[in-house]
Amino acid sequence: MSVLRHMGKSMEATEIRMLETRTYTGGCHCGRVRYEVTTDLATVMDCNCTHCSKRGLLLTFVTPDKFTALAGDDGLQDYQFNKKMIHHLLCPTCGIESFARGTAPDGRRMVAINVRCLEDVDVKSLLPVPFNGRDM
Ligand SMILES: [Zn+2]
Repeated sequence: MSVLRHMGKSMEATEIRMLETRTYTGGCHCGRVRYEVTTDLATVMDCNCTHCSKRGLLLTFVTPDKFTALAGDDGLQDYQFNKKMIHHLLCPTCGIESFARGTAPDGRRMVAINVRCLEDVDVKSLLPVPFNGRDM
């Protein structure tokens, strides 16, 4: 029963995700940080590392050409830890991390989008993939 329910949920989520390649608007809580990102939300990661779990981050990764900063890209507070591969960028006014910039293991530059900060996204309709960042 639970397996069938899970499969049904996966198929439903896959259908939704296949339909949703579009440009989303996102940003922080107070409105100082605003951006646009083009993504299909195909892979949303629920990372269990100490940072992501404390912040409740749900992340999807895009290449920098899919990301356009509209406001507040300057003056962000930069937080780094562990191997310092990712710049966690916090709004200096409201403290929200709506996106981050980092380098993938293959050296490509990536932007990590906090999907909780995107407008018109029903987070509950997504099927986040567990990511074991705690052991990295
Ligand atoms: Zn803010």
